[in-house]
Amino acid sequence: TKTRSGKPKWLRVKLPTGEKYRNLRKLVDKYDLHTICTSGSCPNMGECWGEGTATFMILGNVCTRSCGFCGVKTGRPEDIEWDEPEKVARSIKIMSVKHAVVTSVDRDDLKDMGSIIWAETVNAIRRMNPTTTLETLIPDFQGNKRNIDRIIEVAPEVVSHNMETVRRLTREVRIQAKYDTSLEVLRYLKAQGIKRTKSGIMLGLGEREEEVIQTMKDLRSVDVDVVTIGQYLQPSKQHLPVQEFIVPEQFETYKRIGKELGFRHVESSALVRSSYKAHKHLE
Ligand code: SF4
Ligand code: SF4
Repeated sequence: TKTRSGKPKWLRVKLPTGEKYRNLRKLVDKYDLHTICTSGSCPNMGECWGEGTATFMILGNVCTRSCGFCGVKTGRPEDIEWDEPEKVARSIKIMSVKHAVVTSVDRDDLKDMGSIIWAETVNAIRRMNPTTTLETLIPDFQGNKRNIDRIIEVAPEVVSHNMETVRRLTREVRIQAKYDTSLEVLRYLKAQGIKRTKSGIMLGLGEREEEVIQTMKDLRSVDVDVVTIGQYLQPSKQHLPVQEFIVPEQFETYKRIGKELGFRHVESSALVRSSYKAHKHLE
């Protein structure tokens, strides 16, 4: 069942179709808008854009961290662009995005770790797009509560923070992050009144089934509502290798177990990315 690229056939990229997709694509090219969907050539564009969901990245495109799975450039980030919040808000307006997902690189170089621009972005989006709902996929802010509070104050409908992998592999996969810090961020968000919290993990990095289930249990222990589970794909030869292509049946098994554990939504299949079908996670 392998294709010529060495990937199993269920990972074959679906070409996006549909009128909404084509119209959006034209706008994105015309106004030179930056979405993660296009820069990462996400296979789900047809589906997400058809539903009015798109993902934007803020705080530049150079990250202070160097996670082994991530295709974002590492190094010394650019200076803060103070008009970035307005720019993102305008893009959302031009694209008529109904549900916007905002994420960022990690800015461990800044005192506020980027949390001020984060809050301003949410405010600018709300001002310019009063009916658009929002998911913020936030960094761990090194667990700093003052920074996390800035997100909580502007109250996005959904706040997500990804565990990315199981406890044992965290050091290898996200060298600068800690499993327990991430769990604590998720616990704190919920305890401070965020209605819907969400997290995601990638499979195929060498994790065992019982470790995946334990991660889901850990997420439920801090009241996380939504979990996304997808296949890890290596962005380049310099990144961690894929240890395993998880078969569709196994994704189904995790979905069933996740439901039994009490998650409101479980998205579990090979092409799932953390913002896949994100609009549904409001329900
Ligand atoms: Fe990529 Fe986020 Fe890790 Fe930075 S912190 S390298 S953007 S996954
Ligand atoms: Fe965009 Fe995320 Fe959907 Fe991919 S899964 S098209 S990145 S919103």
